[in-house]
Amino acid sequence: MSAARCRFYDGKTSERRDASIAITTDGSVVVAVDGIESRRVHSLSEVRIPSRIADTPRHVLLPDGAVCEVRDNRALDAMRARAEKGPAPAGRRFERLLHQLDSSWRGAAAALAVTAAILYSFTRWGAPLVAGVVVAATPPQVEAVIGKNLLTLMNQLDFVEPSRLESNRRNELLAAFTEMTEDAGVADTDLLFYSGRRLGANAFALPGGTVIITDELVRLAEHDEEIVAVLAHEVGHVAGRHVMRRLAQTSSMLVVWTAFTGDVSVAALSILGPDQLLAMSYSRDFERAADRFAFDYLDRAGISPKRLGDILERLERSSGTASMPVWSSSHPGAEERARNAAEAEAGTRAASGDRQ
Ligand SMILES: [Zn+2]
Repeated sequence: MSAARCRFYDGKTSERRDASIAITTDGSVVVAVDGIESRRVHSLSEVRIPSRIADTPRHVLLPDGAVCEVRDNRALDAMRARAEKGPAPAGRRFERLLHQLDSSWRGAAAALAVTAAILYSFTRWGAPLVAGVVVAATPPQVEAVIGKNLLTLMNQLDFVEPSRLESNRRNELLAAFTEMTEDAGVADTDLLFYSGRRLGANAFALPGGTVIITDELVRLAEHDEEIVAVLAHEVGHVAGRHVMRRLAQTSSMLVVWTAFTGDVSVAALSILGPDQLLAMSYSRDFERAADRFAFDYLDRAGISPKRLGDILERLERSSGTASMPVWSSSHPGAEERARNAAEAEAGTRAASGDRQ
């Protein structure tokens, strides 16, 4: 009867003893500790032999609480296979496959490719689904608290400071904003003015529906209708709860990434803070939805959709000098969108032409 050498722990003391473990063809596990005459005999069905992971030692659990640490994986598996005869159970065959994958570079490459495919699929299709469910289950009050905390953080981290715009100017813009949100039927939204500091010319929506606009962006605009167009786009993000959906997508991807790679340091990189909120880019779908929302409103208000394209282009040009051109970086493809705005403009003209 062949046997494998092992280290034996009796499960009661920390003492380690040399021993041998054998599995007989009739399905008994026999452990003989060196220097002790009596042997321990257990039924194979009561002994837990863990899965093989490459060539790391395995801890075979005996029913009396004792443990055999076996390094000779090959001998252990051969003995077990002989005792079990016939084809291995499905679970065991899977284990063996995992081991084979683990021990060849082709297998490792294949496993890597499969992992990459799963991660890609999750990012592409899974995360948006999960995010939809999470956001649907998030009460608006919770979203509002998240938004408020982010704003507090932004203040503490000197991202923003109190607006220096005159109160008359702020009230004018606030009136235009209120008119727009009421017309669009978006309740529970608010407009706050800040001096941008590190944010430069910027506008963005926080979870919970608060829209922030910086003094720098107000000054960059050459016409109030441009500001209204930018705000309408941001309210489009609020209406679609895009910020929360984006945050939920990022978080769910982190969970999956960590699960697959076991690498928590990647997770640590993405603690959800103002940096992440501002640096995150919306998906093209969200951008298109927000643009559509804006164009619809501008159309109703008799404002040319081109106003959005105009200020986007100016932002793009000015962002070279800003320290952190967040708004434009989180709104990629300014050129494409300026083109969309021009097309929307042409569409409006054609439509009004039809009406005449
Ligand atoms: Zn946007």
